[in-house]
Amino acid sequence: MTEKSEDLDDYLDSHYIHRSNWLRAAVLGANDGILSTASIAIGVATASATREPIILATLAGLVAGALSMAAGEYVSVSSQTDIEKADIEREKQELEEMPEIELQRLAEIYEKRGLKKTTALTVAKELTQHNALGAHIRDELGINEISQANPIQAAFASGAAFTVGGLLPFLVTLFLPLNSMEYSIYGFAILFLIILGALAAKTGGSSIGKAIARITFWGTVAMGLTALVGYLFNVNIA
Ligand SMILES: [Zn+2]
Repeated sequence: MTEKSEDLDDYLDSHYIHRSNWLRAAVLGANDGILSTASIAIGVATASATREPIILATLAGLVAGALSMAAGEYVSVSSQTDIEKADIEREKQELEEMPEIELQRLAEIYEKRGLKKTTALTVAKELTQHNALGAHIRDELGINEISQANPIQAAFASGAAFTVGGLLPFLVTLFLPLNSMEYSIYGFAILFLIILGALAAKTGGSSIGKAIARITFWGTVAMGLTALVGYLFNVNIA
């Protein structure tokens, strides 16, 4: 690898988009972990006068949530990968059966991107000579290495992120006083969500203020509604 191409790789790596896949899965997982586990805990804490049911429900929610998050990510990434693989196979076949038409199609794509007809054809010819399938996968199907996730890795990342997120409210149910439990869970959950939101916005190069406002609003709505359910439940039990 020449020094020039190493510099290019470093430069490309500096773009936020390269961090997007694992960041999005990790933040989504942790966010979900904090919010859904804290909401379950608040709902049960509002309806319960003892600590055990709160701990049990929170733990059950944490485990169920982590597993369903991992399973959901695995299924969605696997089906995405299957679709991409099927498209690539079809592309391979089309390149074998009708190389001339495929070359024209590629040139049209470059023309649409702003190249002159002759330049587009030259570029299409050179890229076809260099790596025909690679050029069609990237420029016709729009599949590139950056967006291709590994199902197992994605499932593991999501499940692990959910677990880390969910552990935070769970620790609150273990150690904080029972009488103000729902307020402690809410307070800590919003704090964790704000830290996570700010971190994600900073890493992704987007507005921190907007991220904090968004997460605080939706976090409050979610936990507020489950507290209401718990409260209504409690009124009915008492
Ligand atoms: Zn093609």
